Amino acid sequence: ESGMTNHLSQLASIGQIAAGIAHEVRNPLTAVKGFLQLLQQDQKNEYLEIAHSELDNALKTLNNLLQVSKPDLEDEEFQTIYLSVELESIINLFQDKMYEITIQTDFQDTGAAIYGRKNQFKKAFFNLIKNAIEAIDGEGAITLKHYTKNNEVIVTIQDTGVGIPEEKLSLLGTPFFTTKDQGTGMGLAQVFSVIYQHGGMILVDSKKNQGTNFTIRLPQQQQKTQRGVRKLDVMFDDKY
Ligand code: ADP
Ligand code: MG
Repeated sequence: ESGMTNHLSQLASIGQIAAGIAHEVRNPLTAVKGFLQLLQQDQKNEYLEIAHSELDNALKTLNNLLQVSKPDLEDEEFQTIYLSVELESIINLFQDKMYEITIQTDFQDTGAAIYGRKNQFKKAFFNLIKNAIEAIDGEGAITLKHYTKNNEVIVTIQDTGVGIPEEKLSLLGTPFFTTKDQGTGMGLAQVFSVIYQHGGMILVDSKKNQGTNFTIRLPQQQQKTQRGVRKLDVMFDDKY
């Protein structure tokens, strides 16, 4: 677990540096884009068009990076998130597009809740399930479970996909790390960032050609009733 903590703080500083660079580079690029636009109005030139669309690509990458490394910029309020409900709705987004992959669920405590940023949270689990689907070539299965234990909510996402070689495990979550031709390497960076931001942790267990299991542990939302007032006792790490 201490290895995982190191990994997370390392990612936190990578994220901070990345966010800093992204921020600094975005402004001059935006200015260049503006001037290109002015030039383009005067003369129709295919080179200008190419320069324009390449700039757009660069800006898109930077915006992605900023979103991943500084999710609190989105300023989303913390709220109660019921895991079963949200996970079901995410699964439904994929369901009609899948023929050879089955998604099984095993939700032990359907009332289990955490306190967090719902859209960020949904995006993280969307990314995890998307990766699981992409890891499966042909037929396969994904099993999604959650249960509560010692004031923690534990979610596991298991797939029967290609697996991750051991030497690559430490690279997971690093922005731009991808093994896919069309990959962005932003999915897990977003996942790690959000889980960390919610005071949780993420563990990966994988065997090549057998599959991968992601375990996410998050502080459970504690609900105490006092004289009819519901008091929320929440611990989360908001410094990232
Ligand atoms: P992308 O999906 O764009 O490649 P991600 O950050 O989502 O970026 O994932 C990074 C890399 O981690 C993937 O390219 C893949 O090599 C590996 N990976 C993530 N999830 C899984 C999984 N469930 N099974 C196998 N490999 C995975
Ligand atoms: Mg992905």
